[in-house]
Amino acid sequence: MVKDTKLYDFLGVPPTASESQLKSAYKKGALKYHPDKNADNPDAAEKFKELSHAYEILSDPQKRQVYDQFGEEGLENGGGGGGMNAEDLFSQFFGGGGAFGGMFGGGMREQGPKKARTIHHVHKVNLEDIYRGKVSKLALQKSVICAGCDGRGGKEGAVKECSGCNGSGMKTMMRQMGPMIQRFQTVCPDCNGEGEIIKDKDRCKKCNGKKTVVERKVLHVHVDKGVRDGHKIEFRGEGDQMPGVLPGDVVFEIEQKPHPRFQRKNDDLFYQAEIDLLTALAGGTIHIEHLDDRWLTVNIAPGDVIVPDAIKVIAGQGMPSFRHHDYGNLYIKFDVKFPEKDQLQNLELLEQVLPPRMQQIQPPPDAMVEDFELEGVDGSEGSQARAHGAAGSAMDEDDEDVPPGAERVQCASQ
Ligand SMILES: [Zn+2]
Ligand SMILES: [Zn+2]
Repeated sequence: MVKDTKLYDFLGVPPTASESQLKSAYKKGALKYHPDKNADNPDAAEKFKELSHAYEILSDPQKRQVYDQFGEEGLENGGGGGGMNAEDLFSQFFGGGGAFGGMFGGGMREQGPKKARTIHHVHKVNLEDIYRGKVSKLALQKSVICAGCDGRGGKEGAVKECSGCNGSGMKTMMRQMGPMIQRFQTVCPDCNGEGEIIKDKDRCKKCNGKKTVVERKVLHVHVDKGVRDGHKIEFRGEGDQMPGVLPGDVVFEIEQKPHPRFQRKNDDLFYQAEIDLLTALAGGTIHIEHLDDRWLTVNIAPGDVIVPDAIKVIAGQGMPSFRHHDYGNLYIKFDVKFPEKDQLQNLELLEQVLPPRMQQIQPPPDAMVEDFELEGVDGSEGSQARAHGAAGSAMDEDDEDVPPGAERVQCASQ
């Protein structure tokens, strides 16, 4: 059993796939989704990256074993040299730009400067904070260029280009296959693909030759009033630094935590209020604790008759809208609690209050008539009241209960 099949899914192979199956799956996918071939399909670049990432890990038996056992977290903790660039892997796999340059017009090197990876982080926020807006201070660990060696990895002049690969980190090998000689590229064994060699005594003590060190950085994330679930806040260039590439970005995605009292739909709030039958008929007051420090006192006028599951609205007491800060509505759904059998007395007085009994269908005078008593469905008496109480729960699941006005505009950013 593997912990997670995501990387296998990217390649469209089962976790039991052999090395050659992985290889041909990558080859097929990489040719299909290569950005040069998909100028008008923006999703292809992402697919291409995922594919390359998956193949890079699964084609390395050691990494594959770690991934199978611990999933991707295992790999991140294992660390050891950042992931390979998708294009680098591609050219390694297909024997350098040569074969492909011709095919796709050689546009591969003209995609702008390389950039370190983006750090993604989900920022969970409660509804109170979204209602009022706030600034969260979030700390993250990131790689920064080592100040001890200015990102060289060692003393000035001590870092030498690898002679085995002329600094490219890749080596071209030949292989005889029948009558043909195949050229292929592989990671340079002299420098492990670094392209550079540093003598141990010249290595920078601060970064141990890695050129970067890990640093803690605090970012101020503005959770704006009314921000929607899934909204992304981007800090350009605040991510990892690596020598010779642009610093990466940091992206925070807002995740709205579930709230114990309110449900949110776009800019509207939904609240479930429990009232007794007396309040439903003869009026009363309910109190709602809002998301700021206010309590709303809501009066139900005598005779206003709130039927079970009725929905009423208080205009302007919903969420502030993002950026514009117009307020949505607060919808209240009423769960009317009927009394238990032993709570009733002087029932005959109801005849003065309520309208007379409805006309029921009468049997014809010559009909055969039998008498019955009612029982509760679960065998006990009076279960009707209890069953009713339980039925009026959760309005989150049935969208049909939402009044027409509440559905308004679907959030476009989701
Ligand atoms: Zn250093
Ligand atoms: Zn080398």
